[in-house]
Amino acid sequence: MHNRIHSSLGVKPLLALSSTVPTKASTIKPAQSAPAKAMEKLGLVRDIDLALHLPLRYEDETRITRLRDARDGEAVQIEGVVKDNRIESRSRRQLLVRLDDGSGELLLRFLNFYASQQKTWAPGVRLRVRGELRHGFFGREMVHPAVKVVTDSTPLAEALTPIYPTSAGLPQAYLRKAVAAGLARAPLDEVLPPGVVPPGWPSLREALYFLHHPSPDVSVETLEDHSHPAWMRLKFEELLAQQVSQWQARQEREHLRAPPLLARPGGLHERLLALLPFQLTAAQRRVGDEIAQDLQRPQPMHRLLQGDVGSGKTVVAALAAAVAMDAGWQCALMAPTEILAEQHFRKLVGWLEPLGIRVAWLTGSLRAKAKREQLALVASGQAQLVVGTHAIIQDQVEFARLGLALIDEQHRFGVAQRLQLRRKLESTELEPHLLMMSATPIPRTLAMTYLADLEVSTIDELPPGRTPIVTKVFADSRRDEVIERIRDEVARGRQVYWVCPLIDETEELDQAADEAAGRASKGRAPLDLSNVTQTHQALSDALHGHAVGLLHGRLPTADKAEVMAQFSQGELSVLVATTVIEVGVDVPNASLMVIEHAERFGLSQLHQLRGRVGRGAVASVCVLLYSSPLSDSGKQRLKAMVETTDGFEIARRDLDIRGPGEFMGARQSGAALLRFADLSQDQALVAQARQHAQQLLKDHPRAAQLHARRWLGQKAQYLKA
Ligand code: ADP
Ligand code: MG
Repeated sequence: MHNRIHSSLGVKPLLALSSTVPTKASTIKPAQSAPAKAMEKLGLVRDIDLALHLPLRYEDETRITRLRDARDGEAVQIEGVVKDNRIESRSRRQLLVRLDDGSGELLLRFLNFYASQQKTWAPGVRLRVRGELRHGFFGREMVHPAVKVVTDSTPLAEALTPIYPTSAGLPQAYLRKAVAAGLARAPLDEVLPPGVVPPGWPSLREALYFLHHPSPDVSVETLEDHSHPAWMRLKFEELLAQQVSQWQARQEREHLRAPPLLARPGGLHERLLALLPFQLTAAQRRVGDEIAQDLQRPQPMHRLLQGDVGSGKTVVAALAAAVAMDAGWQCALMAPTEILAEQHFRKLVGWLEPLGIRVAWLTGSLRAKAKREQLALVASGQAQLVVGTHAIIQDQVEFARLGLALIDEQHRFGVAQRLQLRRKLESTELEPHLLMMSATPIPRTLAMTYLADLEVSTIDELPPGRTPIVTKVFADSRRDEVIERIRDEVARGRQVYWVCPLIDETEELDQAADEAAGRASKGRAPLDLSNVTQTHQALSDALHGHAVGLLHGRLPTADKAEVMAQFSQGELSVLVATTVIEVGVDVPNASLMVIEHAERFGLSQLHQLRGRVGRGAVASVCVLLYSSPLSDSGKQRLKAMVETTDGFEIARRDLDIRGPGEFMGARQSGAALLRFADLSQDQALVAQARQHAQQLLKDHPRAAQLHARRWLGQKAQYLKA
């Protein structure tokens, strides 16, 4: 069920982990042969990479089974003498070899073969064959077994034979040799001082030698479920390295300087608070205080503000910004999509301009002249606040005095963007404070593992007066009923979202990122928008008299903004949209959301989408339309949606369904760096590693350093992203 990272030990995680920066002493010369290239592609560059390339499974060549004792369907090794062989070409040309092991006879069947093989496997020759035994027409047989010509004194393997994850063009035998060589050369001396590794576990060297060539008497189960002490040692090492690197990042941050920002009595903060049309919830006040504490310190804040959709994170961020601006510093608010950025811009202009604050606007789609103007406002410091997409962190943007950076829906930014943000922040003399917001709460184990370098504030209550959203699941065949329901809703003056998936939805997200970065996304394959446009047409026809809008990523920016504005002002009754409205969009009068092909969406995505309704006092409904057949995980997702509206519970279930690697989203994020440990199973190990990491850094900083470098190489930066 768990999509365990290491269960696919193969290609992706490896690519993510292995360093491509060779060290002098231990490089395999990149020869130009195909297997060598394939190895490099798998990230098998340094000796240590090879040593850490663990088998997917094992084959037992340590014993020979007598045919008499072997069962059909069993994978066994048989040794016998060839009685005869012949090429048969009745139905399909094949080589048939008859083998006698003294206890019985076995037919070997080869559909692909060389003529020379018939000569090599001549009568009288002794063969050791390995494969799955089955019962064929002519008695017991093996199809395409592995064959080795032996004498009666050829020794048996002493250890289980490793089968490695590999890729096209890289044969097992080649890889096996390379791994054995890498393992022999890799620097595996103990770097951890005594007392760190729990007693009873092997050294790293022992663990690796064992896992590559386990003795045949081992319980294969403990190898497969990774509970063998050799596995424990490896997982512990890996988690320890990760924890060390995170605590180091935290320590480094302690040496950075940031402007201490303190709210003034009667200052902007208080004036903004007085202007708000509502009272803050207790949770908002509490997280506000936590943030205020951080801002006062001369070290940069590094805080995640998490809270369910609709919990009111924006206003908390705006209040923090008010403190910074009041103290004469600039703030930047970055959002992952243009629609969301625009919405923030409007809201903040509405709140802050009456208080004398100038807000600049930066996205990739600005025309050159407008962009120059906005850049000048930012560079001169005339604009105290900049709102935009990640155009905000492009190189040409220069802040006069950036004091606080706010990142909305932080998890939606890719790793590259996060690293770019880091560089931007680090390039200033005094580092700005950083507040990230997310509506996808991070389960505790993940937080402990990935976010040791991050403070977390949680808004755990919704503003009062919200009526919980009721979620219903319908088969797509009941679409007409749903449309009836929409008719009722709009007749009462309410508004409705109808969300359609795209065939290739990643494309749309990429495109949003492109747009935000100001890259032209023309020249790509056209998106299949037939679904949204058809639905738009059908709803327009069915609901004559009511305005139905259409919104998707391929619309020109101005049109998108226009449609969104019309919907928020109530000029449109229904908005048919793709997932461009997934994050942040806030229209309190919308009371019904229909998601078609809901089975195609991820759980947290469904939750985010659903969060677009239920934002006002009216009772809201979310209808999930699905088409059969539903996959198991599809069923689980829809069930979870019906059973709970609690974002934390959703996150827990999402983690269960998808596993941590995918949960964290970005392929190269810190999550993908874990190859061996499994966060859903190894929670106890995480806690242990965490404790030891802190101790190690304190008492043996050099050992900590060596250890982290061995495991993470150049990739440690991703842990900070
Ligand atoms: P999110 O946490 O999902 O980003 P928003 O910040 O967009 O949520 O807030 C959702 C809605 O709730 C907005 O319309 C916002 O103005 C409103 N809101 C925020 N705080 C409160 C509050 N304390 N009382 C009433 N409404 C609030
Ligand atoms: Mg928000």
